[in-house]
Amino acid sequence: LHPEDRCPGVLRLHEAADGRLARVRLPGGRLDVRGLHALAAVARLGNGIVELTSRASVQLRGLPEGSETAAAEPLAPAGLLPSPSHERVRNILGSPLAGRHPDALGEIDALVAALDRGVCGDLELARLSGRFLFAVEDGSGTLGEHRADVVLRAAGADRFAVQGGSPVACEAAVTQALALASRTLHDEPLPAPPSSAPAVAIIGAILQSDGRVAVSGMARLGRLDGHVLQAVAELAERSGTSVRVGPARTLTLLDVAATEAGVVRARLGELGLIVDPASGWVGLSACAGEGACASARFAVRAAAARRGAERGPGSGPEHWSGCERRCGLPAGVVSSMGADR
Ligand code: SF4
Repeated sequence: LHPEDRCPGVLRLHEAADGRLARVRLPGGRLDVRGLHALAAVARLGNGIVELTSRASVQLRGLPEGSETAAAEPLAPAGLLPSPSHERVRNILGSPLAGRHPDALGEIDALVAALDRGVCGDLELARLSGRFLFAVEDGSGTLGEHRADVVLRAAGADRFAVQGGSPVACEAAVTQALALASRTLHDEPLPAPPSSAPAVAIIGAILQSDGRVAVSGMARLGRLDGHVLQAVAELAERSGTSVRVGPARTLTLLDVAATEAGVVRARLGELGLIVDPASGWVGLSACAGEGACASARFAVRAAAARRGAERGPGSGPEHWSGCERRCGLPAGVVSSMGADR
């Protein structure tokens, strides 16, 4: 275990002001119907608050002390806890449409899965910091700015450039990425990752290159209720689709038939998710704040929510913090509201 690593997981809960918090890693943001039901079940153990993080993980809040086993029980059979020893180091961001966007240069699902297997299959990598992050980009520019340590970028069918190097096939790319991760355990510096750029908005209905549609809804200030996960699971089941969690705090249903996209989008809107890319809520974020963090000096989330109702289209990134620590400040956002004022 990394000596300074206090990142929570499922088997190591974080003690917050509103109870214990579990963080579930989702390599590539992938969630199937079973996974959505399992997360909803864990949310019911706690206060029902579900958070989507800037690393496309899911956090479940307000769990009782000592509920690690109860939390793991629904997650393991749903495939969300494949390696207890590596659960906190499976940090793999992936482009939310995973190669389906018309501007994508290649598919990434197989690479993300192989990288995850590689991480979990390497005993030494269990000692990685819980902050260590891989990013797998499909070349569409939809992943957005991030602070990944190792970047794998699609450069054509089954070709990936690792850390800006020459493109290689999937298997070799995984080997290179794992070797870079291993170097950090021996205090060897890594070559700088290629720069990332602000995301192309993927909120609402986005036409995929195969003619089907990805339908995406954003959680206001990164939070939703557990019952929304349950409802999204039912929606995904009816549409025969799977879901991706994106770092812009989105839930995206992939491969929706074009004839059903309008209904799916309307349903996500009914569930309280933002489905209009021009909404003032887009680009607005806030830390855990009042009720969840004892350091919050004022009702930061309530203040941010008032801003969300006021902001117009294209208001730009804005982050609200309850104290100088500025937790959750997104990559590329230089200052925050609240604590800085
Ligand atoms: S920024 Fe401050 S108030 Fe907000 S979650 Fe972090 S420590 Fe708590």
